[in-house]
Amino acid sequence: MSRASPPSRRPSPAAAVTPPPAPRVRAWARALLAWFAVAARDLPWRHTLDPYSVHLSEIMLQQTQVKTVIPYWERWLQSLPTVGHLAGAPPDRLIKLWEGLGYYTRVRNLQRAACVIQAEHGGVFPQAYEAILALPGIGRYTAGAIASIAFNKPYPVLDGNVSRVLARLLALRVDPRTVSEELWTVAARLVATAGRLPAGAAGREQKGMVFSGNCSRLNQSLMELGALVCTPHHPQCGVCPLAGSCAARALGCAAELPVRDRKTTLTRRFFFGLLLVCEDKYWVRERPAGQVNAGFWEFPNIEALDGELPTNGLFGFPARELDRVGQVRHSITRYQNTVTFYRAAVSQVVPGLGGRWCTLSELSQLPVATAHRKMLAQLRESGI
Ligand code: SF4
Repeated sequence: MSRASPPSRRPSPAAAVTPPPAPRVRAWARALLAWFAVAARDLPWRHTLDPYSVHLSEIMLQQTQVKTVIPYWERWLQSLPTVGHLAGAPPDRLIKLWEGLGYYTRVRNLQRAACVIQAEHGGVFPQAYEAILALPGIGRYTAGAIASIAFNKPYPVLDGNVSRVLARLLALRVDPRTVSEELWTVAARLVATAGRLPAGAAGREQKGMVFSGNCSRLNQSLMELGALVCTPHHPQCGVCPLAGSCAARALGCAAELPVRDRKTTLTRRFFFGLLLVCEDKYWVRERPAGQVNAGFWEFPNIEALDGELPTNGLFGFPARELDRVGQVRHSITRYQNTVTFYRAAVSQVVPGLGGRWCTLSELSQLPVATAHRKMLAQLRESGI
């Protein structure tokens, strides 16, 4: 006789999300709007409803902290104040404005989106959610953010912060990524409910900031709560506007949630860079089109799978002629890169390397790949 398999201790994803009843959703929406009216940070992109500026802030804020983004966002808009300016800007200028923010596909998609807006929407940022979603580089989250923040449309947002808040409110015992559709539904009910509530005493203006309406405020309040109060490791339930009806808080398990199925494993990669020096100039080359970081400048380098300097040296320079200058580390997505730089002095360029000579100050005017920019900073400091 076959034995029945033991019952799983883990709830199936389909059963993990109990939809909150309408009165609770309404109470959450009210509490979030009231909290946001006093707690919203004064951020520069909250002083405009211009969809191009909102789009820019949302793209810059992906994977990047607010305090890092602020000067980039301001500098960008001074240089390229409209969609038309962005569509016509030379790529060199864009990557220089973006230099240091990383994830450079974002900047290329921004310009592609601007070109579509010029060509297909007469240079006017589209208001319809589907048209926003169809722009290059814009996914469901960004489309919801632009539609709600710029146009007060009741479309939800669900990023890491919002997902964490909802997972705790509902005391989800599964990885939120496995039930994301259900969480999108909860987020959609929240923003739609907020859109039906009265605008409140603050109206559109708040401490000099401007909001298109309750849909904007609700979505931004969820993001803000996740960033300031319901933080990953130390949720501050004592000051949370949702504490009274938060299931995780009631169960005393807030800091344990959200559950993660497995940690992403980091892959280590090792590179060796060559600082080829002739008088006060360094040999640099531009990364070709079609490669990661295309258009960025870097010192010649190679990847070594075993992490060891190749026995035959670098680019025809034997190991015994190379001086180790320094090492930089740089992590991007799941890769942890280590670049070790060696120096060699020459009187003329080595054939086949490709590139050109640059002084350090000339190089600092060019867009430079992140790890190499860190080395450049060390060179400028040390005067090597
Ligand atoms: S009560 Fe605590 S766990 Fe619940 S949403 Fe607020 S901060 Fe997060």
